[in-house]
Amino acid sequence: MAIAQQVLLRDAMRRLNLTRDLFAARIGVKRRALDTWLLPEGSQESRAMPEVVGRFVTEIVENDALLQKYAQTAQTGPLRDRIAIDNKHQLLSVDQFSRESVEELFQVADQMQPIARRQKVSRVLEGAVLGNLFFEASTRTRVSFGAAFCRLGGSVCDTTGFTFSSMAKGESIYDTSRVMSGYVDAMVIRHPEQGSVAEFAAATNIPVVNGGDGAGEHPSQALLDLYTILTEFSRLGKLLDGAHVVMAGDLKYGRTVHSLIKLLALYRGLKFTLVSPPGLEMPAHLLEKAGCNGHVIEQTHDLQKGLQGADMVYATRVQKERFAGETLEGYDEAFQVGRGIIDRCCAPDVIVMHPLPRDSREGAHDLSTDLNHDARLAIFRQADNGIPVRMAIFAVLLGVEGLVQHSMRDVTWVPPSHIGPDDSVFHGMY
Ligand code: ASP
Repeated sequence: MAIAQQVLLRDAMRRLNLTRDLFAARIGVKRRALDTWLLPEGSQESRAMPEVVGRFVTEIVENDALLQKYAQTAQTGPLRDRIAIDNKHQLLSVDQFSRESVEELFQVADQMQPIARRQKVSRVLEGAVLGNLFFEASTRTRVSFGAAFCRLGGSVCDTTGFTFSSMAKGESIYDTSRVMSGYVDAMVIRHPEQGSVAEFAAATNIPVVNGGDGAGEHPSQALLDLYTILTEFSRLGKLLDGAHVVMAGDLKYGRTVHSLIKLLALYRGLKFTLVSPPGLEMPAHLLEKAGCNGHVIEQTHDLQKGLQGADMVYATRVQKERFAGETLEGYDEAFQVGRGIIDRCCAPDVIVMHPLPRDSREGAHDLSTDLNHDARLAIFRQADNGIPVRMAIFAVLLGVEGLVQHSMRDVTWVPPSHIGPDDSVFHGMY
């Protein structure tokens, strides 16, 4: 299945970090022509891009990636060594990344897209076994890490919950980690205590990935969130530098926003508006970290006020399971992100994200479902990006990213052209 011209062009703009105007100039075409190539395929004004332009764009992107790779490798060695902690190839925190290294990881994620889009298969991790150890509830993170490892040719063994693990018999983190290391080649760990995954990592030399440690961090989620933001912004012809980001909900216990604000702070001149119910504000040490690179931080309890002029809204669930005596006073409908308030307060090109799960129960006031068929809602595209980004994390930590490109073969089955019923609407949108 060939990649749609809109997807190819949008990917190219994002990878080259160019706005539409600059991209049109870079490939030597009129902005108007580029706009018609980016229109949804079925629409009246949409035009097919000349084949020669497609080849030129592909060549520019490949050359740019090669140049960056040579420059980075020549100066500093492979990515996995640059993000290592104590010389170990592990992913515990987004603090391990710089803007350059995070964008290098995204180049690897881009390479994974033909596999994630089910056009190609690869077996670069054939024979490797992943231990997926989840001591806390999970759907997306556990399954997408497992699927990402399998799509690279590896296999997965998992254990879920305390009750069915030897931790219920009093086994220590050290013993569990050391024993598992004799069985598997990499581990993804989720655990309810902050700092616990670092403890697992200290007891082993195999790659360990933090799948969420209490209210601490969720680095792979923040990486796929950032990848999604960059992808969506390039579709809209925007740059992340200088953008207005609104984070809304439980910012005290939400580990995804803890990791994401640090990653976003690697960019320049952002405005962060942090909207939370009283008592669930973003921790002070994170505010301090994000207060660099010319960023402006505003905090409010008023969602309507906070949403004005947003380029991206990141809603989060209230993490009641982590409450230590807090009550949710005053957390009412006014905190709910939904169609009405987004229509009233934001421009039509805003994007709405959420790490999921959203609490759809009555009275939860989490992100509402009335935006489900609305192109501004990016949550399912965001969740889909979990696969290429997590594949990239494994490929880098296990040192096989250089083998992926040449290992790809065509898939043998016929995948659906759009994964979800609403995706046809998004497929060619611009
Ligand atoms: N799935 C995310 C996490 O594990 C967000 C959430 O649970 O609200 O942190």
